[in-house]
Amino acid sequence: MDVQYDVIIIGGGPAGMTAAIYASRAGLKVAMLEREAPGGKLIKTFEIQNYPSIKEMNGADLAYQMFEHSTHFGAEYLYGDVNKIEDGEIKKVISSDGNTYTAHTIIIATGTKERLLNIPNEKELTGKGVSYCAVCDGAFFKNQVVTVIGGGNSALEESLYLSQFASQVNIVIRRDVFRAEPIIQAKIENEPKIHVIKKHLPVEILAEDGKVGAIVLEDVETKEITTIETKAVFPYIGADPNTDFAKDLGITDEQGYILVDDHMETKAKGIYAAGDCIDKVLRQVVTACGDGAVAAQSAFHYIKG
Ligand SMILES: Cc1cc2nc3c(=O)[nH]c(=O)nc-3n(C[C@H](O)[C@H](O)[C@H](O)COP(=O)(O)OP(=O)(O)OC[C@H]3O[C@@H](n4cnc5c(N)ncnc54)[C@H](O)[C@@H]3O)c2cc1C
Repeated sequence: MDVQYDVIIIGGGPAGMTAAIYASRAGLKVAMLEREAPGGKLIKTFEIQNYPSIKEMNGADLAYQMFEHSTHFGAEYLYGDVNKIEDGEIKKVISSDGNTYTAHTIIIATGTKERLLNIPNEKELTGKGVSYCAVCDGAFFKNQVVTVIGGGNSALEESLYLSQFASQVNIVIRRDVFRAEPIIQAKIENEPKIHVIKKHLPVEILAEDGKVGAIVLEDVETKEITTIETKAVFPYIGADPNTDFAKDLGITDEQGYILVDDHMETKAKGIYAAGDCIDKVLRQVVTACGDGAVAAQSAFHYIKG
């Protein structure tokens, strides 16, 4: 069988793009398969302030810079939604459009997908006021009330972004404290348009003329129900790994995160993983890039022996 590539990288986010830089710069023949636009979560992020040497940059701009760099040393960027990997000495990567790619090694860098609220009308109203990307959809809600669900870094960062457009941003949290970094919490406290609703859970989204009209909240202690008017709901309640296609390989934990060693190698020889899709303590751009670099270097040593 003709082997097309030394390395196939699945996913074109920060982890995959960094792996592409390292692997192609080391002289390997590399393809990076991505099912959306390259950039991963970066293109859905308003502002990055914690990537060394970049004090502040729009996520999409950083994604564009990284993407240009990722193909600079010869890595090919290909469209593909991977739904199967066949392990063996030569590995096969199969995409949903039926294309099969072969390689000596694979780096899985597929990140995570946003967790759903799983409440009535969430699915029906997605794209009609329910959105998982404030950067993509926030500007549609100029001078309107919007509601963010969640109290972590992403929820708070995106609430600040939304406060540029919205007349009011409600943040609904289950507990009475945030999980976000203090620097972001301080910004939230100083933003008059932001209104925090503590100790409540969303239980239903109500439609008005086919779009989001209100959200029903339950007090976690008293169980009292309150309905608040809102034109948009942005859930930011965590994420799950995009690794369904890798489950048969036996390389994931119960939650679907890929288990790797210090070399980013999985239990399957020659298959590496990097970034948010692995079991790790800090899911950030800088750590995703670090993982991608290690995975590429490990793939290089595996191939060159
Ligand atoms: C709202 C928000 C704000 C954030 N703010 C910051 C911040 O300020 N600073 C910071 O450091 N981090 C931030 N993060 C986290 C950061 O974005 C992630 O840690 C980082 O993007 C992870 O990179 P990754 O390459 O592992 O995954 P991702 O960026 O998720 O990229 C994975 C890529 O894989 C692709 N993919 C998935 N499945 C397949 C498949 N089957 N076939 C082909 N392609 C596939 C996806 O389309 C995606 O492009 C933020 C995240 C969010 C959601």
